[in-house]
Amino acid sequence: MTPVRFMCQQHLLGEWRELFAFVGSLKKQRNLTGYIQNDLFEPESLKPRALEISEELIRRGYAVKSFEMDPKILDYLSEEDRKHKIRRNRSLQILLSRCSRCRMAFEPDTAGRYEIGG
Ligand SMILES: [Zn+2]
Repeated sequence: MTPVRFMCQQHLLGEWRELFAFVGSLKKQRNLTGYIQNDLFEPESLKPRALEISEELIRRGYAVKSFEMDPKILDYLSEEDRKHKIRRNRSLQILLSRCSRCRMAFEPDTAGRYEIGG
C-alpha cells in the first residue's frame, strides 16, 4: 500500500495484476489468511486501491480495463482478516529498500500526507 505516485511502472503494473488475482481468489473463496497476515493484502481496500492504481496508470498513459468487484466476495473472510490494515510505513520501507526505481521516485517531503493512518 505504497503511495502510487512513488511506484515504478513495474511495481504499479505488478500490483494492478495482483489485485485482479485477489478478486479471482476471493471468488473461489480461497484461504488468504497467509497473505493478509504477511501484510500483502488488505481486503477492504481492494476496490479503492484498484481505483487509485487505475487512475495513476491512466495518468501515465496506459489504457486500463475497469476494475469490477462485487463487495459480497469478501463476506466469507473472518472479520479479523477482512478488517486487517497493512502497516503502510513498513511496506513503503520494504519497497524502497528493494527497488531503486521506486526509491528514485520517492519524495520524502510530500510523502507525509499519504501516511495518514499508516
Ligand atoms: Zn519499483
